[in-house]
Amino acid sequence: MQTMKIQIDKLEATPTAHVFEASPAWWQEQVIEARDLGHQVEGPFVFETQAYQVGEEVFLGGTFRGTIEVECGRCLQRYRHALCESFRLVLESAGERQPPDPDGVIALARDGMCLAEELELGWYRGQVICLDAFFTELISLALPLQPICRETCKGLCPHCGVDRNQTDCDCEEVKRPPSPFAALAALRLAGEDGEKTGGKS
Ligand SMILES: [Zn+2]
Ligand SMILES: [Zn+2]
Repeated sequence: MQTMKIQIDKLEATPTAHVFEASPAWWQEQVIEARDLGHQVEGPFVFETQAYQVGEEVFLGGTFRGTIEVECGRCLQRYRHALCESFRLVLESAGERQPPDPDGVIALARDGMCLAEELELGWYRGQVICLDAFFTELISLALPLQPICRETCKGLCPHCGVDRNQTDCDCEEVKRPPSPFAALAALRLAGEDGEKTGGKS
């Protein structure tokens, strides 16, 4: 399913707005052969794109937004994670050139465009480019590698497994074996306190 296209021969030197919405079903199709990504897409990804053409070069830029539901790496609760990234892409006319990699050759024939090593550069051929593969790449790169529901997430207790965001547990004290000097230190502290209070009165 290729739905997100830009007609290159209609572009001008002044940017025009192109808004694309990619449904969760679209995303499912794009990643169908990828590993289980462990997330659920909550709504459409929206790509607000500006496009213009100068000479033989096509310029795209904009932002995309989306929301996914993922599992927090610390507390294992599922939470909604907002994605919001800006992007840009400069496409040159491929002319008679062939992309050096087989994937590039396939992409150029199928999508009318292919990407270089750097995601921000590529070639186009023909009058229509399909942006599905480019947008898929953008989303993939924006997905959090180690999702965390919030910076202050306390995670699960490694001993009893309770969610420390919701419940406190007493595992902290049990964790360290009592030092043989602990009793001595306690005695000394008590003695100092005694001296201090004794000196004050
Ligand atoms: Zn968490
Ligand atoms: Zn615990």
